[in-house]
Amino acid sequence: MGRTTPKVMVAECPDCETNIRFHRPLKLGQIVICPECEADLMVRQLNPLELYWAFEDDGKYDDHDDGIDWD
Ligand SMILES: [Zn+2]
Repeated sequence: MGRTTPKVMVAECPDCETNIRFHRPLKLGQIVICPECEADLMVRQLNPLELYWAFEDDGKYDDHDDGIDWD
C-alpha cells in the first residue's frame, strides 16, 4: 500500500530536557504539554523544532530557586 510514514518530530523539553516526540504536525505558537514534567510549552521554532515555556513570567518568580523540586 502507498502508506506514507508520518514524520516524527522530536524536540527537547526546556524544563526537564526530555526528548518529546510528536506524531502530528505542529504549528508555530502551538501549546504542548511535556509528558514528563507537564510543563506548558510553546512551539517557538519549527525547523529545527524548538520548544519554549508557554508562559514566561517576567521576573514574577524572580526568587525561584533552582534547587527546589516542584512535585
Ligand atoms: Zn519536561
